[in-house]
Formats: sequence, C-alpha cells, structure tokens
Amino acid sequence: MGQYFKAVNLKKREYVCPWCLGGVAKLWEWSANPWGAIFPLLLRKSTEGGGGDYHGPTYETDKTAIAGRWAGDPVVLVGDYDDSKLWDRLHRYRNISREVVEAWNAFIDIKEMNLTFHPDCSCNKHP
Ligand SMILES: [Zn+2]
Repeated sequence: MGQYFKAVNLKKREYVCPWCLGGVAKLWEWSANPWGAIFPLLLRKSTEGGGGDYHGPTYETDKTAIAGRWAGDPVVLVGDYDDSKLWDRLHRYRNISREVVEAWNAFIDIKEMNLTFHPDCSCNKHP
C-alpha cells in the first residue's frame, strides 16, 4: 500500500489529479515524472515573457489561462491518508487536469514528456 497525492489550490478550489494526467500518484511518482513538473507552469508569475518562457495565454491577462494560474495561492499536494480529509472533498473542487494537459503539451512539446488526459478517471465520474 502507499499514499496517493493530488495537487490542490485551496483558494480557487481547484485540483490536478495525476491519474487524469495519465500518471500515478505516490509522492515519489509525482517527483520523478513529467506530471510533477506541472508546477513551474502553474506557479509562473511575470507580466513579461522571454526565451524559454511560456508563450501562450497567462493568468496575468487571461483568467482562464493555466500558466501562472496558481501563482501566489495556497497550494498543497494532499495525501489520501491526511487527517484533513481534504482528499474526500475534492469532488466539490474543480478538476483542471484537462486544461493542464493542453497547456503543458503546448508548452513542452517533447513527445516523451507529453501528458494524456484520461476522462475515464474515477474523479470525473462525480456529478
Ligand atoms: Zn482523476
């Protein structure tokens, strides 16, 4: 057995599910795989761009954008064993995994690093 983790923005009430990204969910697996590298994109903060930067829409000017969306917000990687039981309430939060996959793949554009959205993940079956 092992503990699973999902990325959660407590302020915006949004989350990213590793299984929705085609990944797996233990802390080591988050740390050693491409879906663990989504945080630079989500936490980016700048009103300007440059070489090696994300050149799509950013949250600074487009509130639907993924790039920079979580910058400055309280963000946790919550485990399913955590006493807070936040994990059990995530069905009331907005799953932004599909949008993260789209922004990530457009940004990284390396086949081996691509993420694949899995709409059949159990967290997409809640009403
Ligand atoms: Zn999921």
